[in-house]
Amino acid sequence: MPHAPGRAFSRENHVSISTAIELISREDAEAARPASVCSPQLAQAPWAFDAMPLPGYGPGASMNDTAPPATPRQGELPEEYRTASDDELDRRILTAKATLGDSVVILGHFYQRDEVVRYADFVGDSYQLARAATERPDAEAIVFCGVHFMAETADILSTPAQRVILPNLAAGCSMADMADIDSVSECWDQLTALLGSDPDADGRLPVIPVTYMNSSAALKAFCGDHGGIVCTSSNAAAVLRWAFERGQRVLFFPDQHLGRNTAKAMGVPLERMPMWNPRKNLGGNDEQALQDSRVILWHGFCSVHKRFSVAQIDKARADHPAVRVIVHPECPMPVVDAADEAGSTDYIRKAIDAAAPGSTFAIGTEINMVNRLAAQYPQHTIFCLDPVICPCSTMYRIHPGYLAWVLEGLVDGRVENRITVPDGVADSARVALDRMLAVRP
Ligand code: SF4
Repeated sequence: MPHAPGRAFSRENHVSISTAIELISREDAEAARPASVCSPQLAQAPWAFDAMPLPGYGPGASMNDTAPPATPRQGELPEEYRTASDDELDRRILTAKATLGDSVVILGHFYQRDEVVRYADFVGDSYQLARAATERPDAEAIVFCGVHFMAETADILSTPAQRVILPNLAAGCSMADMADIDSVSECWDQLTALLGSDPDADGRLPVIPVTYMNSSAALKAFCGDHGGIVCTSSNAAAVLRWAFERGQRVLFFPDQHLGRNTAKAMGVPLERMPMWNPRKNLGGNDEQALQDSRVILWHGFCSVHKRFSVAQIDKARADHPAVRVIVHPECPMPVVDAADEAGSTDYIRKAIDAAAPGSTFAIGTEINMVNRLAAQYPQHTIFCLDPVICPCSTMYRIHPGYLAWVLEGLVDGRVENRITVPDGVADSARVALDRMLAVRP
């Protein structure tokens, strides 16, 4: 049975990343799918990277990105969790979960490894999981098996009494890190100096800030304080329409690709979508380009989705003439243009769920989700466009060892790795999130 967001994930025999890595490291590599991994370090446990002196994203798609110096670090995981066997961790997690009962809810993102998702009470995308947290006000603790910005959003939307826990503090998001509050504030000051802050004759402000859900709470708060709004990959077009009703142009951060793909589909010409490089004056643009703009795109991207290419789509079509290619809108524009469809993780899941048996799908999103879909829908042929196993580096930082540690901590009355958003920031961020909730697609 396929599982839906908001439903527990069944403990079936899925092809996990670990299994795939084991397969390709064996002599029968030819029998394994896909062909290779982007880093042999993926076979190691994440605590090997948590112990490294410099903050880094670890192996996976973001391994070549530069992590900001202030990136949260994870302290050393107690040895008993690092050395426990898979079976022992499984037993300890299930025992702790049973002891805690309804006082804890575990949320698992679509991109999490199967070895973690199997314990989740809810599985979904970042927004669905944030909403799921609000559906369990009885739970004293929310253990968020995702990344940092998701845990922040859960803290903003949950009750003050609830504690949100991120099992590994190093599970950030390289895309979210590409826009910080200081850089965005500096950009805003330059845009205000150039474009003013007074509305035009139609009452539209010079700029409306729009932040993708994949951003820090501080940036959501910035949008709340400056007439802006949050969007997800599911509602980006509706949110841009909302913004265009209120503003002459949009400042969209941090993901340039979601902004460009969405605005292009709405008819905004590319020449009216300048890119803002935070390391350059006026973002590297001349004044006229900014005055003529409709959407100013932040220079950010997701390293997972940047890996997909038109060549991969061409190969999928050559190998499978009836293939249906669906990619995430965080992919670069040429990839979205070459695909049959683009949509959020939930869109992809629903499209597969609704397809006639025997359909063939090439999917452009994170490998854990694609492998899980392939296992859940055996009546279809489903494969990842990228033949190389390269998971999200930060989702990978969550491991059953960390999950066992935080759950047993709760059993013992200890709250490890609590994520809290200061009240003032949370109040402003909630304004931007509430504006998003009021937008109808
Ligand atoms: S898949 Fe991309 S956007 Fe999502 S958490 Fe990983 S780096 Fe961030």
